[in-house]
Amino acid sequence: MFENSERTSIESLGEFGLIDHLTNMITIKQPSTKKGIGDDAAVIDFEGKKALISTDMLLEGIHFDLAYTPLKHLGYKSVQVNLSDIYAMNGIATQVTVSIGISSKFPLEAIEELYEGIYLACEKYNVDLVGGDTTSSRQGLVISVTSIGYADEKDIAYRNTAREGDLICVSGDLGGAYVGLQLLEREKLVYIENPNIQPDLEGKDYIVERQLKPEARKDIVEMLKDLKIKPTAMIDISDGLASEILHICKQSNKGCNIYEDKIPLDPMTYETAREFNLDPTVCALSGGEDYELLFTIKQADYEKIKLMMDISVIGHITEPSAGCNLITKSGVVHTITAQGWNAFKS
Ligand code: ADP
Ligand code: MG
Repeated sequence: MFENSERTSIESLGEFGLIDHLTNMITIKQPSTKKGIGDDAAVIDFEGKKALISTDMLLEGIHFDLAYTPLKHLGYKSVQVNLSDIYAMNGIATQVTVSIGISSKFPLEAIEELYEGIYLACEKYNVDLVGGDTTSSRQGLVISVTSIGYADEKDIAYRNTAREGDLICVSGDLGGAYVGLQLLEREKLVYIENPNIQPDLEGKDYIVERQLKPEARKDIVEMLKDLKIKPTAMIDISDGLASEILHICKQSNKGCNIYEDKIPLDPMTYETAREFNLDPTVCALSGGEDYELLFTIKQADYEKIKLMMDISVIGHITEPSAGCNLITKSGVVHTITAQGWNAFKS
């Protein structure tokens, strides 16, 4: 889905022409970027800090649907989901590389829109685009982003270091991206059946944005640093709260109690889930793509975290034999599974 109606063929530019066209106005912002685009490799110097590196690949038809995803949003999101992994290590993101595979159905204008989103994300999060690769694809669009960042060794937050008694915290609210996706999928079906009907997303901006334009939580990492809180463990929520808390507990060899009434839900997420006959709690547990941070802190840090807007304490870490449990609003204890669906329906 691209907005510009002109269609310049990419073939007419050639690979090098295209790369140059997309990257010639880059200015480097980070002092650690010693060499960006233009040589065989980028050169980065973190001067004694540990480098953090993470990659994600997005495939058309698997991870995104261009029927309702504007390319600018797609570019923005593909950078955000990668930066999120650096923040989930309690690090600072500084560079990205972007590799794309493009089929002949995409004119230059479409790729320009994709890069507008990529540059907007880089600008807003203060990261440099320092390289990538460009190839043609038989079918569909492929985007792979690698994010690079740094942290002091003592600040890095792993998944396997949660301790018994730690408080479990989550940023923002959950389930919105999944409910937003349900809405977009529904409107797509309506459109396929009758192309004269315009999508009805009125009043649903928040959850549609949660799906199409997520924001990685750099602000949370900065706030934690300001409050001198080091998370004892941290992960970002790409696959849903259930799956992520299980990663922390399994890797830390611990159990947990999560309280359903503490899970943060936006009212629009709640209402729209209900419209779709979905349990809002299940959307938070198993929906995914919220890109919030899930982390554990020492109990001693509770007084500090209490003051933080946008952080909810949703439970605590227990000994491993207690298992991983969700305590529902009515006080029933359920074992948390990665696909929370069946467990909570029964
Ligand atoms: P190589 O032959 O070494 O792979 P390329 O000709 O593919 O080099 O790339 C030339 C320069 O442009 C490199 O610095 C590379 O990182 C960068 N680059 C290539 N494709 C992209 C892209 N899609 N986005 C950003 N930078 C790119
Ligand atoms: Mg190359």
